[in-house]
Amino acid sequence: MKNCSKLTSEQNPTQQTMTKNDPKTSKAKQPQKNERALKGWGQLVIGWMLIQSLLISTPSLSQTKTETKTDKISYSQLIQDIESDRVAKVEIDPKGQTAKVTLKGQGEDEKPQEIPIFKSNLNGELITKLRDNQVPFEISPSADNSAAIGLVTNLIVLFLLFAIFLAILRRSAGASGQAMNFGKSRARFQMEAKTGITFDAVAGIDEAKEELQEVVTFLKQPEKFTAIGAKIPKGVLLVGPPGTGKTLLAKAIAGEAGVPFFSISGSEFVEMFVGVGASRVRDLFKKAKENAPCLIFIDEIDAVGRQRGVGYGGGNDEREQTLNQLLTEMDGFEGNRGIIVIAATNRPDVLDKALMRPGRFDRQVIVDYPDLKGRQGILEVHARDKKVDEEVSLEAIARRTPGFTGADLANVLNEAAIFTARRRKQAITMTEINDAIDRVVAGMEGTPLVDSKSKRLIAYHEIGHAIVGTLCGGHDPVEKVTLIPRGQAKGLTWFTPDEEYGLTTRNQLLARIAGLLGGRAAEEMIFGEDEVTTGAGNDIEKVTYLARQMVTRFGMSELGLVALENDNHDESDYSQEIASKIDHQVRYIVDYCHDKAQKIIQENRNAIDRLVDLLIDQETIEGEEFRQLLEEFKISVEQPLVISR
Ligand code: ADP
Ligand code: ZN
Repeated sequence: MKNCSKLTSEQNPTQQTMTKNDPKTSKAKQPQKNERALKGWGQLVIGWMLIQSLLISTPSLSQTKTETKTDKISYSQLIQDIESDRVAKVEIDPKGQTAKVTLKGQGEDEKPQEIPIFKSNLNGELITKLRDNQVPFEISPSADNSAAIGLVTNLIVLFLLFAIFLAILRRSAGASGQAMNFGKSRARFQMEAKTGITFDAVAGIDEAKEELQEVVTFLKQPEKFTAIGAKIPKGVLLVGPPGTGKTLLAKAIAGEAGVPFFSISGSEFVEMFVGVGASRVRDLFKKAKENAPCLIFIDEIDAVGRQRGVGYGGGNDEREQTLNQLLTEMDGFEGNRGIIVIAATNRPDVLDKALMRPGRFDRQVIVDYPDLKGRQGILEVHARDKKVDEEVSLEAIARRTPGFTGADLANVLNEAAIFTARRRKQAITMTEINDAIDRVVAGMEGTPLVDSKSKRLIAYHEIGHAIVGTLCGGHDPVEKVTLIPRGQAKGLTWFTPDEEYGLTTRNQLLARIAGLLGGRAAEEMIFGEDEVTTGAGNDIEKVTYLARQMVTRFGMSELGLVALENDNHDESDYSQEIASKIDHQVRYIVDYCHDKAQKIIQENRNAIDRLVDLLIDQETIEGEEFRQLLEEFKISVEQPLVISR
C-alpha cells in the first residue's frame, strides 16, 4: 500500500545495470581449457602408477619365465632325485621360493638348475627329504632388491611426470599468458576500441557536457595545451545519482575524441583475495598506456575510494591496497601522455581526500537529475529510433516526470515501445506512455484481489491516503487511486507533483506526513485498532524519515536551527540527551499528523464510504472523478496544517 508521490527519487528504479555487459563470461574460458588438459594428464599418471605397482607386486611373473627357460626338473622330479641320491647340493631361497639344485656329476661351470617350490613345502617335505637323504643344503635368501628397484622406478616415473606437468604448464602459460599468473588472469576491465557514442546521444546535462568538451580536446590535440606549457589534467570525478548518464558521458568523450574506452567498476575490485584488486589496477593502467591516447572510466569509485581506516572494523586491507595502487598509478603518469581517467560516484563525501589532491581527481563535474527541458531533450534522443505517434507530446511527458533520471526516461520509452508491439499498434501513443511511466515508477501490475474483506480494507487504506492528502493544504493533488497491485504494493494512491524542483515548506512536509498516515488512520477508524494491518509498514518508514529530517536537518522543530545529522548517518555524534530530544520531537510531529489524519477520516466518513464503494466497483478512480465526488459532498480543501512550536 504505497503512497506514491512521484517526486521522491528513491522510487525511481534504475535499469542501467542491465545494459552493462558481463565481464565474467569472456575471460573464464581459457583456464577451463587448461584444466581439462591437466586432468587428462592426471588420468594418465594414475594409469601409469597402477601398471607399475602391478609389476612390482608379482615377482612370480619373472619366476615363471625362468621356469619355462630351465624346464628340466620339476618339484616332484627333485624329490625323486633326492630319494635316489642323485643330488649333490641344494640352495634354498625361501623368499624367491626357488631351489638351486646341483646334480651329482654336473660340471663345475654348469649352472645349478632353479626349481620353483611352494612356501609350504620349504619347512616340510623338502627339508625332511634333504635331511633324510643327507643331501647338503643351504637356506640363503637371495638379496631381494625388488622393492628397492620398485621404489626407484616409481620415483623416476614421478619425476618424469612432474617434469612433463611443468612443461605443460609453461607451454599453456606461454600460449594464453594466464595459467601461471592468477592475479592477472581475471582482469575484469573492458575495452572498447570505438564507443561509437557522440555528444548527440547525451542530453539534459548540458553543463557537464560543456565542461567535459575540453577533455575531448585534451585527448584529440594535446599539443594545443602542451605547446603553451599547460598541464593536462589526469582525472575528472563525475558526481551524481545513478542513471543520470555518467557512463554515457564518459563514453561520448571517448567517442568524440576517437580514442579507446577502458572501463572497470569499483565494485569489481572488491575481491576476497588481498592483492587482486591492486594487480587489476596495475594491469588496467598498463594496457591503457599501451593504447594511449585513451580514456579510463572507473564506475562506483566509492567502492574502493572510501576514506582509509574508517568503516567496517577499522579498514579493509584489500580495498586500501587497491586504492593505494590507484593513487600510485595516477601519480605515475603525466597527463601529457594522453590518458584521462574519469571516475563516477554518487557519494563524493565518503571518498578519501587523497583521491582529490592535485594531479589526481582534482576536477569535479556534477551530473544531476535533468530539469524539465533536460528531460524533454533526453526523451527526444531516445524517441529518435522509435515510432512515436504524432499526438504524443514529449514535453507533456517531461512535465509528468520530475525526478526521473535519463535512465528512467530511456526506460519509459522502451517500455512504451514494448507495450505498443504487444498491442499490435503501429506507433507509440500516449496510452502506452502512461502505462510505461506507471510501470517504471511502481513496477509491474498484478491482478486485483478477489477476497472481499481485504479488498475492502485496502480500499479504505488507499482512500484514506487520498482524502487526507487532499484535505491537507499544500499536498500534491491526487492523480488516481487504484486497487490494481503493482510490485510490492497491494493498492496505490498516486499524487501528481505540482512543481518542478523547488524548496519544500514545513507545511508541505507536514501535509505529506499526514497523507502518508491517512492509510493507517482509515484502517483504525473503520476496522478498529486490533484490525490494523502490516500494509502501512512502508508508509510508516517514510513518515519517520521525513519527520526525522525535519528535526535533525531542516531545523523545523523546537530543537532549533542545528544540523544534527548529515547524509552520513554514522558521523552523527550527539549526546544521549540530544538523541532523546530528537526522538521526542519526531514523535511529536508524527503524533500531531496522525491526529490530524484521524480527524479528517472521522469527519468525512460518508464521503469515504462512497469512494470506497466506487473504488471496489471500478478498481481505479481518476483524480478528476475523485475531486468531483468530494465536491458533491461539499468538501473543500482545508487550511494548511499548523503545528505549534
Ligand atoms: P550512470 O552511469 O550515471 O549510472 P548511465 O550512463 O549508465 O548512468 O545511463 C544509463 C542509460 O540511461 C544510458 O545508457 C542512456 O541510455 C540513458 N541515459 C542516462 N542519462 C542520459 C542522458 N543524459 N541523455 C541520454 N540518455 C541518458
Ligand atoms: Zn499506504
